[in-house]
Amino acid sequence: MSSLYRLLPSVDVCLQLFRDSLYPHALLCDAINAFLQEQRSQIKANKLTEQDLEKEYLEKALKVYVDKALSSPIKKVINASGVVIHTNLGRSVLAQEAVEAVTLAASNYCNLEFDLEKGERGSRHSLVEKDICKLTGAEATLVVNNNAAAVYLMLSSLCEGGEVIVSRGELVEIGGSFRIPEVMKRSGAILQEIGTTNKTHAKDYLEVINSNTKAILKVHTSNYRIIGFHSDVANTDLAELAHKNNIPVFFDLGSGSLVNFAEYGLRGEPTVEEIISSGVDIVTFSGDKVLGGPQAGIIAGKKEYIDKIKKNQMLRALRCDKLTLSALSATLRLYYDLSIAVQKIPTLRAMTIAKEELYKKAQKLARILRSALPKTSVDILIKENNSRVGGGSFPEDDLPTYVVCLDFKQKDLVSAQVLKERFLQTNPPLVGRVEREYFMFDVRTIQEEEFKIIKELLLSII
Ligand SMILES: *Cc1c(COP(=O)(O)O)cnc(C)c1O
Repeated sequence: MSSLYRLLPSVDVCLQLFRDSLYPHALLCDAINAFLQEQRSQIKANKLTEQDLEKEYLEKALKVYVDKALSSPIKKVINASGVVIHTNLGRSVLAQEAVEAVTLAASNYCNLEFDLEKGERGSRHSLVEKDICKLTGAEATLVVNNNAAAVYLMLSSLCEGGEVIVSRGELVEIGGSFRIPEVMKRSGAILQEIGTTNKTHAKDYLEVINSNTKAILKVHTSNYRIIGFHSDVANTDLAELAHKNNIPVFFDLGSGSLVNFAEYGLRGEPTVEEIISSGVDIVTFSGDKVLGGPQAGIIAGKKEYIDKIKKNQMLRALRCDKLTLSALSATLRLYYDLSIAVQKIPTLRAMTIAKEELYKKAQKLARILRSALPKTSVDILIKENNSRVGGGSFPEDDLPTYVVCLDFKQKDLVSAQVLKERFLQTNPPLVGRVEREYFMFDVRTIQEEEFKIIKELLLSII
């Protein structure tokens, strides 16, 4: 066993292998030491043979180890899950136009807060305001860090110390860290719950309105639906009821779509414009959900309320930087022509891609994988399945799709679960789906340029 230890190279010898790399010396030494320590433990545990420690083999393992330890912590991931807006995978992929706008703003000075006409200080909030107003019919808008910040800022600016009425059917939790009752507590507003989980009537609202009521808040039940014996009050009726009592209606819309997807088979999500025209005073929604832009929270609605929110000192802490505003501005501009928007904004493209096209994509991926793997070891099948929009949008709507399934004959060696785990360790990692005995790639969220990479990844892990 002790002779095996002698086969391990010195740190200096290892360093020579990375002569041409740009890794900082101190980090490189740490990674090499960690690698060598791991080899020593493996030798001690009798897990390595002389063969495993051959120079060439060891060098390759060291390179893989060091690259993994020292490469950027943010990695490209191939999304084969079929969930279009996958919060864990960074939600929306930006349109090329938005990427270019970010690059321009990142590598130059820009007029972020500078009015070029007057030659004096301007407002960053005015950069996207005109476009959002045009696209939603709102009088005024304000963009902040994300939708959670938008809801918080709205409530803290307009409702602090007063009561806000919310139906019990809408006291939602979004992904663990956003719960309406908690956000409301933080904002200083007092939650007045009404109705029941499944039914809320106009009279429930009317019964609790008093001189300390500041607003009615509607919350989009983003990630669930109440079906069956169920009713709530229509937006127009709610706005009328509220305005008669001199209070505003706010709507946390969550996903906030700017276009109607009914012609693409996606129903049940009202557009921001529809909500605003129904009389709702303020709507808040995310920039990186169905809108397909960067992380941001958009507040849109009546000027008198937006002006008050703009005066909140906390706005400074929640405002967006030049990169976000650039990406958002470029994304919004694509919306003036719907056919361009669904083509150029990756989130919209993935949501609306035709089924025949998905089938063609699946055939192409299957062909590439079949050409690399022997038929005797694996069946590569194309099956119908469902994708999801995700991001708390269209929770009821399944999107019919095609998946490419891997069915290895020797399941004890390469089970679907094992493939799933190994794909997370590849470079780039791939997030797929496991259903019953199959590992599958949903082609809806995979870019065609990634097909060849997937083949290489698969060959490297079996
Ligand atoms: C997603 C969502 C939020 C949180 O939005 P972020 O942009 O992630 O901060 C809040 N409310 C609703 C209804 C949502 O769907």
